[in-house]
Amino acid sequence: MIKKKVLVTGGAGFVGSHLCDRLLSEGNEVVCLDNYFTGQKQNIVHLLDNPFFELIRHDVTMPFFIEVDEIFNLACPASPIHYQYNAIKTIKTSVMGAINMLGLAKRIKAKILQASTSEVYGDPQIHPQTESYWGHVNPIGERSCYDEGKRSAETLFVNYNKQNNVKIKIIRIFNTYGPRMHPHDGRVVSNFIVQALQNNDITIYGDGQQTRSFQYVDDLIEGMIRMMASDDSFTGPVNIGNPNEFTILQLAELVIELTNSKSNIVRMPLPPDDPTQRQPNIDLAKKELNWEPKIQLREGLQQTIDYFASII
Ligand code: NAD
Ligand code: UDP
Repeated sequence: MIKKKVLVTGGAGFVGSHLCDRLLSEGNEVVCLDNYFTGQKQNIVHLLDNPFFELIRHDVTMPFFIEVDEIFNLACPASPIHYQYNAIKTIKTSVMGAINMLGLAKRIKAKILQASTSEVYGDPQIHPQTESYWGHVNPIGERSCYDEGKRSAETLFVNYNKQNNVKIKIIRIFNTYGPRMHPHDGRVVSNFIVQALQNNDITIYGDGQQTRSFQYVDDLIEGMIRMMASDDSFTGPVNIGNPNEFTILQLAELVIELTNSKSNIVRMPLPPDDPTQRQPNIDLAKKELNWEPKIQLREGLQQTIDYFASII
């Protein structure tokens, strides 16, 4: 018997495809909606024979109607290179996508989860970041199409909840990596692994002393499932990330070690507004969701390296 009918926007992307796998494995019916801007059919091709999986090419900036019990709203490019490629489209995807999906959730009385981001904290001046921190974002910078789009989406979610009683959930995802990242995605983990496996130069932007806290995708999916299943009164936002913090130089050295690569490290200019530090405080997720990450960087990187080695 089918448990729930679930819509996943951005379901052909890196995170979305893992979420579709997990939802199907738990006996749900899944509708995956994607316009394939950064996602790929390859990520969900193994699901196409499953009668409980449905794939729809659609752009979330356009209205969409369907009957489902739950909506996970992930549609949005996540890599700086891709979200800056067409900045206006990125902010439209976040804002109009949120309006369309919230309108749908309101009409059909579905519960809806927003994949927000640690980028709402911008270049944070408090460390680690708690959910109560309002952030430090340049509203007209290179990253603003993504950061401000995601911030506006949070505002829309909170107000659909207050005004229209839509059941909402907001998670703020910190840097996540794993199999099915696109090899040319442009994010640091995939870049370094692909470069190392091909013995090409490892490109560090700036001095490599900026930090990130890297979460393995399976831990994120567990957090998303727990958040959706949590009591309706807990709407978030809640940080979902791994608090283990590394400099980008440390990441490069670890990737070189794990791949036995002959790559050299080279320095490239630091992009504007690149956050200097990022680390989640996850006390709220521990308390409300009984969730914390299980897979640490060395183990997660090894699995990701094995994946990239198999496809390139
Ligand atoms: P991704 O780029 O692999 O996936 C995004 C998916 O959304 C792709 O399949 C893309 O084709 C689709 N998409 C983009 N614009 C669309 C549109 N207008 N209509 C329909 N589909 C559209 O990125 P990801 O890492 O899987 O990220 C998924 C979500 O999680 C995003 O919302 C992202 O902002 C959020 N997030 C991810 C991370 C991370 O580290 N991976 C961190 C913070 C937040
Ligand atoms: N970065 C890097 N080399 C790369 C890609 C990224 O040094 O080839 C740096 C980037 O400048 C940033 C960090 O790695 O400081 C994380 O970048 P990513 O694009 O993965 O995510 P975000 O900046 O959005 O956290």
